[in-house]
Amino acid sequence: NSITKSESSSYTLLPKVQKFLKTPKKLFIGGRWVDAVSGKTFPTYDPASGEVLAYVAEADKEDVDKAVKAAREAFENGPWAKMSPAERAKLIWKLADLIEENLEELAQIESLDNGKPMAVAKVADLPLSIDLFRYMAGWATKIEGNTIPFSLASPEKFVAYTRREPIGVVGQIIPWNFPLLMAAWKLGPALATGCTVILKPAEQTPLSALWIGELIQQAGFPDGVVNILPGFGETAGAAIAAHGDIDKVAFTGSTEVGKIIVKAATSNLKKVSLELGGKSPNIVFSDADLSVAIPGAASAIFFNHGQCCCAGSRLYVEKKAFDKVLEGITEEAKKIRLGPGLDPSTEMGPLVSQEQYDRVFSYIRSGLDEGATVVTGGKRFGERGYFISPTIFSGVNSSMKIVNEEIFGPVVCAIPFEDTEEIAPVANQTIYGLAAGIWTKDISKAHRLAAKLKAGTVWINCYNVFDASLPFGGYKQSGWGREMGHAVLDNYLETKSVCIQID
Ligand code: NAD
Repeated sequence: NSITKSESSSYTLLPKVQKFLKTPKKLFIGGRWVDAVSGKTFPTYDPASGEVLAYVAEADKEDVDKAVKAAREAFENGPWAKMSPAERAKLIWKLADLIEENLEELAQIESLDNGKPMAVAKVADLPLSIDLFRYMAGWATKIEGNTIPFSLASPEKFVAYTRREPIGVVGQIIPWNFPLLMAAWKLGPALATGCTVILKPAEQTPLSALWIGELIQQAGFPDGVVNILPGFGETAGAAIAAHGDIDKVAFTGSTEVGKIIVKAATSNLKKVSLELGGKSPNIVFSDADLSVAIPGAASAIFFNHGQCCCAGSRLYVEKKAFDKVLEGITEEAKKIRLGPGLDPSTEMGPLVSQEQYDRVFSYIRSGLDEGATVVTGGKRFGERGYFISPTIFSGVNSSMKIVNEEIFGPVVCAIPFEDTEEIAPVANQTIYGLAAGIWTKDISKAHRLAAKLKAGTVWINCYNVFDASLPFGGYKQSGWGREMGHAVLDNYLETKSVCIQID
């Protein structure tokens, strides 16, 4: 690996980004930018240097109460409640256009706040977010109920139909790994269905969500439709999950916190959807095109520094090809250029925070303590910031922590397998079920295995391919419900049956 300049501060920020960072970062409630009731702020850091980027107003329970009132008023009585689906669609499309106009700036902000390479933000996070809003704008005018023929009563006696109605006021809590894209996945369908929202970005990465708040204002969304409340999980997040006047909470984050959200939501039995962790198997057969499978397997784990819920962190390779694949992926890992996200040549930035850096290192230590072998990486990189070199473990066994627990960093376990028939149960040996990868030229084998894997997404001869039209979510402890596709609309809609006696 090589590192270029280690300081983000040696790169020129775009004028709008400079101005944005200098203005006070407030809460967005009821269409206005306001200080927290407590007056408190918290710092957000540049993970490439550990320096403070900005201080942000810190929402707590009282601010959540204010935002819920604004969202309730907007949902019940505001212009949003009377707006036609086509008008809603236009606003969502306008928001997508504004994000596109601010693409360079938002990519810089995302890179500064999260650490990801700006080049990656420009080709992945930003285009996917823009497309998601446009795709959801299209759905706003296509939400339909059904006419229902009765099964028992005579057809001439009754007419019955269903209406799909917005669920109401929605709380949305998101993580730091794709700050803008996670906000888009949440806001897009909530707005398409006509809900109103209280969005809490992760405390590590609040900046792009605040920029989106400005664009929401500029697009002309009525006051109170979207409220944005940066703050911490145990305070603002917990207040959202437990609030008695929030109809639904949508959460993306760790499985551990997902369980806390479920418990808190029992206060008023609000509806819950969850996108949680993963420990995804990526299975390479010896008949795969290894010139594609090797870089594919490297990217499956190292994309976004391994901070992906669907990261291919358990790499199963058919024994005949194991040495070749291990050698190939090791070469790929060594080639990755680390550096601050703003350096155009950077391929992998720092992890998001000191806490995440410590967490990933504790897993690397546990792997070594349990007798696994580090093939490459496993070290701190550079003098400052939270860099960890891409790490590959071999010589692991199924009882080790590094094989079973989500690391959420650039760390993969390479594991040989012999029997094609046995790989499905081994791959399914996890509490998670978010994603899986299969690499083979034998398409029948691929389809047979895809059907056996307990995972919400199975990629065949590719990995980390996302599309706004393709549902994404988890089996088992990886979540409840689906993001994206038309499947996500169910998270934000109620079904009302209307029955009329006509005889
Ligand atoms: P996290 O669960 O610690 O935090 C996620 C969000 O929850 C943050 O906004 C945080 O402030 C909030 N939160 C924390 N404690 C809370 C509480 N007690 N009550 C309410 N809210 C609380 O997760 P993280 O470390 O920020 O993110 C990484 C995790 O997210 C990984 O496990 C990853 O797999 C998962 N993730 C899943 C998906 C998916 O689509 N399935 C996508 C991205 C990330």
